Amino acid sequence: MARPRTPPTHRARLAHRALGHALRLAVAGLLVLLAGVLAGLAEGGSSRTAARGHEREVTARRGPVRYTLEARLDDARHEVHGRGTIEWRNDGAIPQRELWLHAYLEAFRDSRAPLLEPDMARGFRGGAALTHLGGLTVKRLFARELDVDLWPRADRSEPTDVRVPLPRPVAPGETLTMEVEFIAALPSLVLRTGFAGEFHMVAQWFPKLAKVEPDGRWAHFPFRRFSEFYANFGDYDVTVEVPAPMVVGATGAPVESSEQDGRRRVRYLAERVHDFAFAAWSGFEEIRQMAGDVEVVALFPRGELEEAELELATAERGLRHYSERYGAYPYRRLTLVRPPPEASAAGGMEYPTLVTTGGSTRGRAVGVRALEALVLHELAHQWFQGIVASDENRSPALDEGLATYAEIEAMDAMWGGASVFDALGLRVSSEAVSRIVAKGVAGGGPLDRPAETHSDGRSYVGLVYARPATLLRMLAKIYGEDAMRRALRRYASEQRFAHPTPSDLVEVVRREVGEQAAIALRRGFEGARLDARVVRFASRKGSSRASWEGTVAVAREGSLEVPVELEIWAESGARSRLVWDAPGSDASLEWRGDSPIAAVVLDPEGKLLLDEQRRNDSRGAPRPTPRLYGFFGLALSVVAEVLWP
Ligand SMILES: [Zn+2]
Repeated sequence: MARPRTPPTHRARLAHRALGHALRLAVAGLLVLLAGVLAGLAEGGSSRTAARGHEREVTARRGPVRYTLEARLDDARHEVHGRGTIEWRNDGAIPQRELWLHAYLEAFRDSRAPLLEPDMARGFRGGAALTHLGGLTVKRLFARELDVDLWPRADRSEPTDVRVPLPRPVAPGETLTMEVEFIAALPSLVLRTGFAGEFHMVAQWFPKLAKVEPDGRWAHFPFRRFSEFYANFGDYDVTVEVPAPMVVGATGAPVESSEQDGRRRVRYLAERVHDFAFAAWSGFEEIRQMAGDVEVVALFPRGELEEAELELATAERGLRHYSERYGAYPYRRLTLVRPPPEASAAGGMEYPTLVTTGGSTRGRAVGVRALEALVLHELAHQWFQGIVASDENRSPALDEGLATYAEIEAMDAMWGGASVFDALGLRVSSEAVSRIVAKGVAGGGPLDRPAETHSDGRSYVGLVYARPATLLRMLAKIYGEDAMRRALRRYASEQRFAHPTPSDLVEVVRREVGEQAAIALRRGFEGARLDARVVRFASRKGSSRASWEGTVAVAREGSLEVPVELEIWAESGARSRLVWDAPGSDASLEWRGDSPIAAVVLDPEGKLLLDEQRRNDSRGAPRPTPRLYGFFGLALSVVAEVLWP
């Protein structure tokens, strides 16, 4: 999902004035700076240009679903009238006696729905009042092969997660073709989808098949506060019809368009994607550029050309960077949708080949790169969730953690240690921001757990975005950036157009980085913590004249057992290193030198990003070089001020 973006609130504005509230702002700033990538790539589906390599890849193997839909937008009623066919092939191992369909918009049928509970929203998107209800009304779901309308027998006791019994079992390999007709009533925009004025963000709008896992189990779930999405790869052939003045940005690429009686019809094809979304608004302006053989299109509100140009440039750079890291972007088009300010709840979200953006360029003058961070986060989702489609409901930390990792790594590659803030003598990296949030939720339980088990936005953001990303960054620092890069590249390549789980990630880390790193990753995902410390040291005269022998006692709380480096300062000024590289909660390390030990500094290079207390990391030495912690509140207050005037 989208990167957390907190809308401007009076509370936030007032709070930042008091230094005591700096931490809260820091968290809010993080929400903005951390995750959200909005990359949307419209896939180019024309078979006429099949000579291109990426198209061959995209069309190489059909997914088990195919949606052929017409979507007519009634902009006065804020409804999408849909009809067409949904083809589904049972590619599981067992006959199916039922189908499961997601009707996500049903979550907006009640303004007091748990989805919109403001207390839960705190710290994460949403929370505004729903002033116009939404819903999905299915009129017909006629299965041709079974010669029956399946909808009257649907069990809708959980309105967003509908069970549709079948009159006879559908065998493995068998296909059903369902004629569908529905009305998608868009809600006022409070959470990703809906309308604000004439702007329409049409997402999660059609009856959508849940995914059958290889063992035949349906991975279906109700749409809850923190749940996102999960589906099979498939082909989408969607004709969008809107009032003629409206500009449309959609998943896939347009292949035909026509205009008649004040209405415009545009047909989009998207192959090998797992969702389809579109935005329609008469206020859009458009710029585009090529990034290699990918066409990047940016839609934006009048007057925000500067922001759109920066988004386009960042996306172009990001496409090159991620394609090199995680394998080529396989589609022909990427669409960036920048919603107008009144529709900011639609921003910071990823859909296949389409991302929604947000944020201001005002911060640039004072060195803030929030807009770039958002674009890079959502763009990273084109790989981690778009192409590598893990289950966002069951394991949200997998795609959000990897997208945040990729965002941090890209920000660092592009702008070094001053990637999110560089002014007033302060330089703050994305990694540092992520680390602060990650440490704030230490002890918050497992990272790998279903979305609905998070109690509030703070837990969700910390455990799903920041902590897994920081864990992976820590392992990269300890075991080598190259090894981690190889592991993630292999993961992205082996799981391309597949649906991995966290154990698949652990497995590539085992193969490319090593057993110890894999164990740490697994434990980290289970919620393991780390606090390493220097307990004491002592030295005595050695056997030869100019030699000293010492012992350094170290200890560790938590089961995140990674190698701990120690720098020993001798009284002579000589410095040497010891490594505690063994399991267990404590150790006594032997040392030899030319003079007595004066001081011991643990983790001198700052690799242990999840180490909870820095103040117990040295003895005898001056306190470790102050990091920027003391300045974070200030720096992020500035960020907050700039972003939410
Ligand atoms: Zn995200």
